[in-house]
Amino acid sequence: MLQGMMMDRPLLVSSVLDYAADVHPGIEIVSVTVEGGVHRYGYADARKRIARLANALLALGVKPGDRVATLAWNGYRHFELYYAIAGIGAVCHTINPRLFAEQLTYIVNHAQDTLLFFDVTFTPLVESLQPTFPASLRYVAMTDRAHMPDKTSLPGLLCYEDVLASGAPEITWPDFDENAACALCYTSGTTGEPKGVLYSNRAMVLHALFVIASSAKTFQVGGRILPMVPLFHANAWGLPYAAPLAGCALVFPGAKLDGESIFSLMESERVTASWGVPTVWMGVLAEMKKHGRKPAALQRVLSGGSAVPSAMIATFERDYGLDVCHGWGMTEMSPVGTLSRLSPEEEAMDLDARVALKSLQGRRMFGVELKLVGAGGKRLPHDGQAVGELHVRGPAIVRGYYNNPQATAQALDAEGWFATGDVARIGPDGSLAIVDRTKDLVKSGGEWISSIDIENIAVGCEGVSNAAVIAVPHPKWTERPLLVVVKAKGAEPTKEGILAQLATKLARWQLPDDVVFVDQLPLTATGKISKRELRARFADYKAPG
Ligand code: AMP
Repeated sequence: MLQGMMMDRPLLVSSVLDYAADVHPGIEIVSVTVEGGVHRYGYADARKRIARLANALLALGVKPGDRVATLAWNGYRHFELYYAIAGIGAVCHTINPRLFAEQLTYIVNHAQDTLLFFDVTFTPLVESLQPTFPASLRYVAMTDRAHMPDKTSLPGLLCYEDVLASGAPEITWPDFDENAACALCYTSGTTGEPKGVLYSNRAMVLHALFVIASSAKTFQVGGRILPMVPLFHANAWGLPYAAPLAGCALVFPGAKLDGESIFSLMESERVTASWGVPTVWMGVLAEMKKHGRKPAALQRVLSGGSAVPSAMIATFERDYGLDVCHGWGMTEMSPVGTLSRLSPEEEAMDLDARVALKSLQGRRMFGVELKLVGAGGKRLPHDGQAVGELHVRGPAIVRGYYNNPQATAQALDAEGWFATGDVARIGPDGSLAIVDRTKDLVKSGGEWISSIDIENIAVGCEGVSNAAVIAVPHPKWTERPLLVVVKAKGAEPTKEGILAQLATKLARWQLPDDVVFVDQLPLTATGKISKRELRARFADYKAPG
């Protein structure tokens, strides 16, 4: 092969920060802080602090490849850690504080973190877990001297601002292999221990470019993006890299993710686009309904992480003139895989047709290949009919799990593609329709029923605020769907009323056998409905009759 004659410069995360500081110096990072108040600075000033922090980390003995953990909300200090740690060739290990205590213990020990940076809100949590963490772990509270915890059981607790101030303000980032790891995020699978997804510099930079290329309208210079998706959940879907690259401001909400707080932050900071899971968007939508309008500058809603209900898409587009983009992805994919982007012809369609298209999970981004796999590993056609397991391939997709040979051995299929565990259809136009997680499908008398399809329709029914479907055992049909509903405030929907509405859109055999009402649905650590917990809650459920 004749080699091209281009420079072999590595794609490093540090180059994203240098670019933003150089080309978009005054574009802001705005943060609601956990101490109270709002912090703001531009990318150039962010880089200065990040240089100090990186030098301080080196002085603390952090070496290339070391794992440095964070337990923190979305804020500027967390952003600084992303870049300072990656810049010196170490690995920023973002930990989800909503995980169970045993999972947190497992993760910190498995990663063998050397330092743990945490927001002061998590002081009691860290103190309670410290005896279960490695003895050599050092702790840094992400605050200034004035807000340090008075008394603490944490040995040698350091103060973030003191640490940062001790570092020199200049740094030239070291050059190293672009395949070096820069970030680590554990995904809590449905069975077994959490698995570590170890991202490389190259994957993060490429993923950011892929995301920007696939949602160009969101990433116009001067756009103001609010990541509701946490920095501890799969790199906040790439926003901490994509926004600085594109010259967009980042507006970090801190610990306040309720609809009211988000609405008022969007309003005061003139946010143009925001990314989050449907459950968090539901809170914002409720707030919009209360005000009878959207936050003034908001134009684009991106939602994913679980299926976005058609009713929600319709309300955003019809009542508030917002442009909704539905995305699908996985922690293992950095994480974005597909995004809904309509062609000009599709954009010109009427609302119902557009909502139907946007209820699908979108089309693949550049850099992500999709295939459907049937029984025996056979490839299935992308004809919008065939249903199979979705496998993916690309430069920002895992080839294994950190320090986990067993899980790594099972990750890829014979052709080297990653098996997602999602069941899907792909249309001739490339549109992906996620039918279900393999384990959430309802197996009813030889037919498969999609829990996602029923939920999607159920949340659009009158008087329903939220809904989930699980399979319950059935003597004749093996399994049947059970619909669990949270009533809308002040509404009194009945089982019969909901089933009658569902019957207008579902075949008889797909209709749930029963509807039960609950006060709230259990959520996972990443804000999705926890089907595992629901199944456990209804383990003894007996169908009526
Ligand atoms: P996580 O790695 O925790 O982000 O979870 C990834 C899983 O979430 C995927 O494998 C899907 O099962 C589910 N998921 C993500 N986005 C969507 C979506 N737009 N629609 C349906 N399921 C989704």
